[in-house]
Amino acid sequence: MYSPVHATAGLLLAQYMPNPALAFLVGVGSHYLLDAVPHGDTYFGAWLTGGHAKRRIAVVESLDLGLAAIVVLALIASHPQQSWVKLVAGAIGGITPDLLWGLRFVLDSKGWKIPLLTPFLHHHDRWHSWGHAKHPYDIPFAVGIVVQVILIALAFLLHL
Ligand SMILES: [Zn+2]
Repeated sequence: MYSPVHATAGLLLAQYMPNPALAFLVGVGSHYLLDAVPHGDTYFGAWLTGGHAKRRIAVVESLDLGLAAIVVLALIASHPQQSWVKLVAGAIGGITPDLLWGLRFVLDSKGWKIPLLTPFLHHHDRWHSWGHAKHPYDIPFAVGIVVQVILIALAFLLHL
């Protein structure tokens, strides 16, 4: 799924966690579970890393992370009784697996190999894509966008 949904899920789960560290870890865990739900981005991923990959990724990630930041700020404002540090930790945990993918992509495209980090990132990539919803049963891209917009709207409307 996209970062606004991952950040929202991590932030909402963080409310029930006793501290920011646990909120972060639960946010990370929620990412893999949500990615396993068919959400229409398996073909999008191929387009993203096709021609002009760096430019496409920069534009899409800026939009994705920018929207996630707006959603996170709005959710923090609507949960004034909660520690914002804990909520932000959950939201960051929710998007961390995709940030690790991005870091791996940048390091690989520059040809930089960092001991321990590079092997860890490649191992994480395999785990991340193993659990990710696959092409044969994915839903159309537009449906995936609509479903994700509805999920975020529900989080606000139901004041989760
Ligand atoms: Zn992901």
